[in-house]
Amino acid sequence: MMECQEGKRDEIRQHIVVIGAGVVGISTGLNLVQEGFHVTIVARDFPAPFETISVDQINYTSPWAGAHCRFIPPTNETEKREHEMALLTFRHMERLVKDGKQAEAGIRFMKGVEYVERPPQAYLDLTEAKAAELGYKSFRRLDKTELPANVEWGAEYQTFCLNPMMYCAFLLRNFARLGGKIQKKVLQCPQEVFDMPEFRGIAAVVNCSGFGFDDPAVIPNRGQLVIVANDCDVTITRQNKDGSWVVAIPRGYDGGTVVGGTREPGVLDTVPDPLKSKQMLKNLKETHPQILPEGQDFKVLREVVGRRPMREGGPRVEYEVVDRNPKKALVHAYGLGGRGYECSWGVAAAVKDLLDQFAQDVG
Ligand SMILES: Cc1cc2nc3c(=O)[nH]c(=O)nc-3n(C[C@H](O)[C@H](O)[C@H](O)COP(=O)(O)OP(=O)(O)OC[C@H]3O[C@@H](n4cnc5c(N)ncnc54)[C@H](O)[C@@H]3O)c2cc1C
Repeated sequence: MMECQEGKRDEIRQHIVVIGAGVVGISTGLNLVQEGFHVTIVARDFPAPFETISVDQINYTSPWAGAHCRFIPPTNETEKREHEMALLTFRHMERLVKDGKQAEAGIRFMKGVEYVERPPQAYLDLTEAKAAELGYKSFRRLDKTELPANVEWGAEYQTFCLNPMMYCAFLLRNFARLGGKIQKKVLQCPQEVFDMPEFRGIAAVVNCSGFGFDDPAVIPNRGQLVIVANDCDVTITRQNKDGSWVVAIPRGYDGGTVVGGTREPGVLDTVPDPLKSKQMLKNLKETHPQILPEGQDFKVLREVVGRRPMREGGPRVEYEVVDRNPKKALVHAYGLGGRGYECSWGVAAAVKDLLDQFAQDVG
């Protein structure tokens, strides 16, 4: 029995196809090659300098992100699972920086500041002891005197920001350096991979397609952003009473700062609304005036729209056995909504566990 399981595990390791070259697919592919799997990433879109990404790639979410890590105090099982994934990713980023990869990867650790006008109970309950238990680093509740007008609750903690396309290109480079293969192709469905001559006989395909190939539970959540040339040395998140948000996410490495971000589930409009941009910049200036030294104004580089792959019930990270003989698995890892970067290494680890689980189940 044991031998049989090992045989199946080795067979699975022979070749895995990961669909998708967003942050989730590349992190997953890289983790698998590091674990000794032979992997090909097949995708329609691959990382490129952000300046070259255009609206026709709106369904490739990864370039449009901020991207920062913003912990959410978990209140249900889905949020607890995401929180665990975020913590695992946070530790991974700490290791990268410790190994001197900070600039190559486009990562910066900094203070994350949160302001909430009408705080939900989970925020009010977030004492320093509770935050430490949840794994926040250097968490501190802000005093009333430190809060901007109309804000009731504030806190700061240590976090990281990424320059998304620098980071994804770094991952892809490392994937290729370790022997990972790359193929550019548009697929009609994930099962198509099993029938491609070059992949005939493979036991598992991993679906990191972001939106999940027409999964009706996935709803694009429109996010409008303004990219400004101004630098900022903290990342700010403000939740307003009227349900709007403002964030400032320094991309670093000459990428300026991302000011966002609207949250508009189901809205497909790809054209930025100048009024929304103006409102976000105004709100940021009131919240964090230090971003504009005396006499300076925002220097807008680009107004853009992205689509977060938001999934009802949370991300889909599970495997299904495809109905064939011999057994083949389709591992799903998509629907990360607004948290794909901050949960990426947690998802990658979960995919590896699912592949081991599959080997055990069929062994
Ligand atoms: C405005 C905005 C701000 C955000 N800010 C943050 C943030 O601060 N922090 C954070 O953690 N997250 C943030 N996000 C969310 C984050 O960007 C996403 O969760 C993440 O990029 C999803 O990555 P992914 O790899 O799952 O999908 P994607 O990046 O969409 O990649 C999907 C991949 O699958 C491929 N693919 C899809 N369909 C096919 C097909 N038919 N054939 C072949 N290939 C296919 C695509 O080509 C692509 O390579 C933000 C998102 C937006 C829009």
